[in-house]
Amino acid sequence: MKTTTHKCDRCGREGPADDLPLYSVTVQVEGSYQPDTVLSAEWCVDCVSSKIAGWVTGVRPAPPDPKPTPTIDDVLREFVQEVIDETVGARQDGE
Ligand SMILES: [Zn+2]
Repeated sequence: MKTTTHKCDRCGREGPADDLPLYSVTVQVEGSYQPDTVLSAEWCVDCVSSKIAGWVTGVRPAPPDPKPTPTIDDVLREFVQEVIDETVGARQDGE
């Protein structure tokens, strides 16, 4: 059995062809001062959506980035900041 693997030219993501459809992205520069230039690449839907969504119809927008899970440092930093804010707020109210 043969399996075709696709690889995005922009982000390097790889996967089976059925799971990772690629889109041909072509930029053509035309001018009278130099020969026409055509640049072409194969991009995954996420790269197409993130860079040129709105220019192309039928392409779903990129999903929002999931919110990262806070680390213990983040939680402690937020807690300390809340205590500082409450302390400073209490001092200002008491003045
Ligand atoms: Zn990509």
